[in-house]
Amino acid sequence: MPPLDSTGDNPDTRRVHDELYTSDAWIEEQARIDQLSDIPDELPRAIAGLMFWSDATHLTQFGAAKMWPLYLYFGNQSKLLRGKPTAQASHHVAYIPSLPDGFQDFVRTLNKGKSGSSDLLQHCKRELFHEVWHLMMDSEFLHAYRHGIVVRCGDGITRRLFPRIFTYSADYPEKVLIAAIRNLGNCPCPLCLVHRDDIYLLGTVQDQETRSGHPRMDDADHQRRVQLARDIIYKQGYAPGNEHGELFLKEDSSVATKNAFSVQLAHTFEFNYFVMLVVDLLHEFELGVWKAVFIHLVRLLHTLGPTVVDRFNERFRKIGNFGRATIRSFAFMNVTDMKNWAARTYEDCLQCCFACFEGLLPEPENAAVLRFIYILCLWHGLAKCRQHTDVSLKLLEATTERLGDELRAFEAYTGTFETYEMPKEAAARDRRAAGSARKGKLTSQSKNDGTGRRRKRFSLRTIKIHLLGHYVSTIRRFGTTDSYSTQVGELEHRTVKAFYRRTNKQDYVKQTTRLQQRQKRIQRITENVRKLGVDVGKKMQIINRLESTPLPPTQPALHYQIAETSKHWIHLGSLIQENPNEPALRGFLADLKNHLLGRLHNRPFDGEETDFGFDERDNLIIKDNIIHQHAYLRINYTTYDVRRDQDIINPRIPSRSFVMVPAAAGDHPYWYARVLGIYDLQISPSRKDSAPVKKHFLWVRWLGEDPNHVGGFGLATLHRVGYVPFGSGNEAFGFLDPSVVIRGCHLIPAFRFGLTKDLLPASDFYDDPEAGDFINYYVNQFVDRDMLMRFIGCGVGHMGVVDATFARTAVQQILNIASSSQTAETLEAIQSLPEGRRELAGDEEIQFESDEDDRVSDSEVAGSNGDSEMDVDDDDGDSASLNEYDY
Ligand SMILES: [Zn+2]
Repeated sequence: MPPLDSTGDNPDTRRVHDELYTSDAWIEEQARIDQLSDIPDELPRAIAGLMFWSDATHLTQFGAAKMWPLYLYFGNQSKLLRGKPTAQASHHVAYIPSLPDGFQDFVRTLNKGKSGSSDLLQHCKRELFHEVWHLMMDSEFLHAYRHGIVVRCGDGITRRLFPRIFTYSADYPEKVLIAAIRNLGNCPCPLCLVHRDDIYLLGTVQDQETRSGHPRMDDADHQRRVQLARDIIYKQGYAPGNEHGELFLKEDSSVATKNAFSVQLAHTFEFNYFVMLVVDLLHEFELGVWKAVFIHLVRLLHTLGPTVVDRFNERFRKIGNFGRATIRSFAFMNVTDMKNWAARTYEDCLQCCFACFEGLLPEPENAAVLRFIYILCLWHGLAKCRQHTDVSLKLLEATTERLGDELRAFEAYTGTFETYEMPKEAAARDRRAAGSARKGKLTSQSKNDGTGRRRKRFSLRTIKIHLLGHYVSTIRRFGTTDSYSTQVGELEHRTVKAFYRRTNKQDYVKQTTRLQQRQKRIQRITENVRKLGVDVGKKMQIINRLESTPLPPTQPALHYQIAETSKHWIHLGSLIQENPNEPALRGFLADLKNHLLGRLHNRPFDGEETDFGFDERDNLIIKDNIIHQHAYLRINYTTYDVRRDQDIINPRIPSRSFVMVPAAAGDHPYWYARVLGIYDLQISPSRKDSAPVKKHFLWVRWLGEDPNHVGGFGLATLHRVGYVPFGSGNEAFGFLDPSVVIRGCHLIPAFRFGLTKDLLPASDFYDDPEAGDFINYYVNQFVDRDMLMRFIGCGVGHMGVVDATFARTAVQQILNIASSSQTAETLEAIQSLPEGRRELAGDEEIQFESDEDDRVSDSEVAGSNGDSEMDVDDDDGDSASLNEYDY
């Protein structure tokens, strides 16, 4: 094998990261298995890759019924299949019991009527959890782990399969339990030994050294210290959490629990269980860092008064939806309320926030916040890619460094604002305080605004910020984040909840287990029957009627599809006669004929139409002088991760009517246009030629780059475009062959610049019938991963599609993004502001954020619409993978 090239110049030797079964971890493990010497036969050896998910869940919206399922997936299956609940790829290996409600009663009988401390409860909870794992990793499992099991595989080949644990996906509180470390202790990271005082260093050299130089290891020393602390509890009779035991545990925030993975696997198989605790984009970024940043942005807006908050909300309401579920509409909400939001709403909000936030804060903070949002979008887009190369991982690395700088700067400059809790936060805190008071805990008092709302500053001291630095190494080791996303487990919870609804709610765990086993058996029978060639039918697919169109299924190889027939026809003569003053129709017929003649002469697309002259146009006959109008255009394209995807263009919905086409000239590789109509017609190239041919065409309004703005990764700002002004030649409007359209694109109005009627005389085609057109639009390059990769150019599926020079520049700009001086300049500018602008009242100490402050609710991760089956619809159009969740 030639050496892998990570400079990006030679695409033939680039390492691609995506599935677990092509990851470094898998390849290393396979080599290890191949070297095992004490195996009696010569059968081919293979790995059975085990991936675990566990997470406690509430079974109903109200009520206390809870279950704690542990799911197993096989990494040998493609992540695309595993992510699809209908594929039934999950195996419910356990429903983990919690400590019984009457546990304290039991403690009191042993403890002279005194209840156990919270340390004792935590300890017992951990012991119980690891005891369950002990039971699962029994001698049979360990025998299989060591010697393999002989299995006749689906392809007819008999292999010796070795079960190997690769990943364990869980949210932070659960990871703490699995890793057996102290919750939010001095060393809060399950992957490395970073001290909590150093968390803010994300992305710096020192931070990277901690991660690589001090990873958590389950070595002999660690095991010895845990044993010593346990002896103090179990032999000397001290309570858990005692100071004698802590002496051994404090240095790395361990706890006195014998980790089941350590006991069963560490000695014999050199298994370091900390490594399996993979990153979790859903909880750590979308519901973690981004949510925290967004909340603080809203607090900043509140300092500027209610008008600003309302303007912000209004802007969001004006952003339309895009794709099947890529961006959902904000039309019926106030984003600042964040009411019933799911993770995907936070994601949509991030992707659209740039344009909505622009111009609301004073300078220089406005520019700084916009750059910060841009970097957050870039980091999120890269971290969520379903396929990485060594080059794109380098870009993620560089972006992480920059993100660290931006977070530190954000904390610094937003400290100059008097930010208070939002009313909602204050109410939530009151409820918590009341709960703590009932339990006899004291809560600290700090500065408030007189109405009981507390001063709140943005805190860098949360574990989630630190974890962002572990993404690149985790993707290198186990493949991309969608493969082990906690969302997969969250989706599987629906199965458990569906079972629960079928129980009589008494002793429901046992009943659920029985139902689950029965379903597995039925599934197995179905498979066997199907093997015999019997058609066993398929579960009915539920289609969201709002999105469905009468178009028949299409060949995925076709580039575009328009309905065969249309009842809506337009007579060209009447159209022009009835709208004499419509500027968009000026020169319509001549331009259309020039466009069609150009296509008949196979003129390559360059954005301009040749004037073929009156005679030639006159010879081109449009059958009956009518055109047929269509509602939808579907564009199929190859995505960056080499799959096929589809965009639906709908001229009636502004946000879904923009398309991008390859630019024929200029530095920017794309041109943008708004589709005003989708048509077909029949033409005869000359009066003699009687057989007419059918042609499709799009009628568009062009947008051009804003000459007063430089966008792109270099300056960390979005590209800005605007409608081409109406002139004598009518370059503002034009026609397009649908086959040159690359895909649909999401353009967000640049709200800050407002609307105008100067671009076009009074017309039916204004963005807003009253106020005219938006002066500018931002090109949302972050709307999905495919779009982002079209601006970076290192997607495998885009090889040869994205302009090579543009791609090289983009990659170089992102690599340089880490060392940009922009952040430092912003801070300097803010430091030099006059005193009146910088009233900083930083008198209180920021506490290490407890989990309670940013607790994630079940509905946030599952989706606000709860568990309704009606929601099961292919998301993003790109896969049936993570329903409701945009991967
Ligand atoms: Zn760490």
